[in-house]
Amino acid sequence: MRKIHNYIHGSAYSISDKEMGVEDPSTGEEIAKVVLSSKEDFNKTLLSSKKSQIDWANTTPLKRSRILSNYKTIIENNISELASIVSQEHGKTLDDAKGSVIRGLEVVEFACGIPHLLKGEFSQNVGTNIDSWSMRQPLGVCAGITPFNFPAMVPMWMYPIAIACGNSFILKPSEKDPSCSIKLAELFSEAGLPNGVFNVIQGDKEIVDLILKSEDIASVSFVGSTPVAKYIYEESAKNGKRVQALGGAKNHLVVMPDANIDQAVDGIIGAGYGSAGERCMAISVAVAVGDIADQLVNKIHSEAQKLKVAPWTDNESDMGPVISKEHKNKIENYIEKGIAEGAKLIEDGRNYKIQGYEKGYFVGPTLFDNVTKDMIIYKEEIFGPVVCVVRAKNYDEALKLVNDHAYGNGTSIYTSDGEISRHFTTNTKIGMVGVNVPIPVPMAFHSFGGWKKSLFGDHAMHGKEGVNFYTKLKTVTSRWPGNIKSGPEFVIPTN
Ligand code: NAD
Repeated sequence: MRKIHNYIHGSAYSISDKEMGVEDPSTGEEIAKVVLSSKEDFNKTLLSSKKSQIDWANTTPLKRSRILSNYKTIIENNISELASIVSQEHGKTLDDAKGSVIRGLEVVEFACGIPHLLKGEFSQNVGTNIDSWSMRQPLGVCAGITPFNFPAMVPMWMYPIAIACGNSFILKPSEKDPSCSIKLAELFSEAGLPNGVFNVIQGDKEIVDLILKSEDIASVSFVGSTPVAKYIYEESAKNGKRVQALGGAKNHLVVMPDANIDQAVDGIIGAGYGSAGERCMAISVAVAVGDIADQLVNKIHSEAQKLKVAPWTDNESDMGPVISKEHKNKIENYIEKGIAEGAKLIEDGRNYKIQGYEKGYFVGPTLFDNVTKDMIIYKEEIFGPVVCVVRAKNYDEALKLVNDHAYGNGTSIYTSDGEISRHFTTNTKIGMVGVNVPIPVPMAFHSFGGWKKSLFGDHAMHGKEGVNFYTKLKTVTSRWPGNIKSGPEFVIPTN
């Protein structure tokens, strides 16, 4: 059985004899074992990260940028292999996996501009013969803890920018699909990154807690479920770390009566069922405004029935399995709850079987109508291929639904009315908003992050926010020549 180790100081390494099975969700078979690292593994990782950071911080931003530029080319040459690794352990289709690697690659591309991004500000003569400038300096050792649903893209939101800024980075990927992070680290070494600047440590809560308690780790970037995000935020802050912790979501897509219905349906189908609904920007709630509801539900239903649910090895697959048996059971329990709560089940994805893959964790596209805001299936994140239609009388009611929900990651409106669209983008209490676009994921040179229970902390990920998160601001005030003798001043200088 293949064993997945840590990647420490440029090589595969682990001391711990604890391990966990990694499965192919399409077959339900165990395909590898991943090490669950021990304190010894962690200490070795930390030592490597601390040592390597000193020289790396002194490496010029231009030299760092050139290594990132090599890395970009090497990733481009390895996209197919990276995508296969993602698909096999996660279950998403190959095209979707490729797309996710490319979205990560765009962050590397952005980070190549680090000499420009780190430029500070300068003011001459802030006082007589006194100049002042500000610069951004690296934090030291930064850590990232990532979820199973994007094993390439989400880590790549973090480490390319952290490393470009002169930090070393320790990644603790999800134990459910850990292979991709190792490949990403190997490729970075191939690009010329010095050993120890990017280390990967495998493990579970035990390693997370060591990261949170370590006095040598300056910052924690987290993406995952809301309860864990809150825990990470609180523990990191308690231990004096800079922290950004992105949590779960329940994204609403509002369909106005004047919307292009077919476009809206395409949006709901792709964003609701793509990647089996295991995306933090998945559309899990469709809000049908006014008298379009029946038409909208019928169209979503007929399109959902056409979807091909199949393993990632099938090129025609629209969506694959969910990550684990436990998660499949959880989703199916939510469907049962929805029925018990009185929602109308239009399409039922439970007990979905594919010939030859009977042990795979497949859930078919599921559609509920007449969902109301007091139902558990509306309030909680299901993280599966389940779309809930809520009917709203008018735009105000739809906006209120979006704003009253506990999560605030993404939302979208489909309309042909510019005034409504402007009102929506201005007044939604949500981090990422789309207009006639189903998944408004910001590009690498903008920043990704939600509001409310979808993000704990002040910084979103990547873009300028990423550079600010991974650097500390220093402002220098300097007077030359130094031979002026004016005696001590006891009053705050004002010019
Ligand atoms: P998760 O919270 O279970 O795990 C995320 C990471 O935290 C993993 O590395 C895991 O090992 C670690 N972890 C799990 N339980 C822990 C605990 N009790 N203490 C310390 N560490 C712990 O999330 P997941 O199931 O891997 O991913 C799915 C979740 O991630 C969904 O809620 C989804 O919405 C969210 N997500 C959010 C975003 C975003 O940008 N907001 C992006 C992707 C995924």
